[in-house]
Amino acid sequence: MKKINLSSIFFRSIFVLVFFICQNIIAQMLPTSSLKSLGKESDSGIKGPSYAELVRYFSTLPQKYPEQVQLFNYGMTPKKRPLLALRIAYPQRFLVTRSSVGPAILITGATHGNEYLNIEDRLPEWFAAQAPKNHTLDSYFKTGGVIYIIPIFNPDGYDTRRRENSRGIDLNRDYTVKQANYVGFKEIETQLFRDFLQNILQKDNKRLSLTIDYHCCIGAALYPWSYRGAPELPANFLALFQDFGSVFKNIMGQQFRVGTTPKILGYSAIGTSKDYFYENYQALSFTYEGEVDEENQKFDLHTQMLTQFVAKIQSLRFRQINR
Ligand SMILES: [Zn+2]
Repeated sequence: MKKINLSSIFFRSIFVLVFFICQNIIAQMLPTSSLKSLGKESDSGIKGPSYAELVRYFSTLPQKYPEQVQLFNYGMTPKKRPLLALRIAYPQRFLVTRSSVGPAILITGATHGNEYLNIEDRLPEWFAAQAPKNHTLDSYFKTGGVIYIIPIFNPDGYDTRRRENSRGIDLNRDYTVKQANYVGFKEIETQLFRDFLQNILQKDNKRLSLTIDYHCCIGAALYPWSYRGAPELPANFLALFQDFGSVFKNIMGQQFRVGTTPKILGYSAIGTSKDYFYENYQALSFTYEGEVDEENQKFDLHTQMLTQFVAKIQSLRFRQINR
């Protein structure tokens, strides 16, 4: 029979008790309604909460910020996960600006399900909370600007931590690029998104001005075109892409690279979202590639960067260059 060491059991029990008390205290110190920073797990994006948990969290935002946040469910994935978009806007101002077309900024994340950064899901609440306090954001929203955010574009891939959707298709190769004779929109996620975007822009009377599609982990901002043999961008657009690109570099550091996919990455890609947004909407469209380490620790840098973009879009709309 094994001898039981009573003092060791006693100390172990004390240890377990102290551990649970500390854990509870720490849990109470964390904000309950905001997402906390999460740990890094793999060589690509980090591991986030389950999609169901994120859906529950996003669902609380319209009640918490009734003046700033509206939540849209624009369909279901093949595995029956809801596709969600958040609109950050001052809806009561829409009527005032109906006569003129306002700018729209689109932010998407986790198109590649394993490239979640824990930035994209925190942005809706940050914009909603900051809008009334931050002069740049407040004037953008007051004059009819909107921000659409789809934090998790590929929920089936996100929950299973894979790049592709549940049918094994890379959604960032599933956009139509007319001038490359490439037909996309074969997948449910991209079809529903294309229609949702068209409809909401029309209904809200907005023009898609800037898009940022969050990916990981190269440390670069990529702009069109990404396919092989593409023409040079017209000079006015090239200047704008480079001007916005300098914001990425100023904030993320001079090691951060800005350019086209073939130039920066050395390979081409056809059917990417940025080529579609640029070709179809003449939007300034970027793929943002996070850096390998601790992108989620750079939330403040992202909000600084996005605030500068909002200011730039706001000044461009009055110069009418972006059309
Ligand atoms: Zn990616």
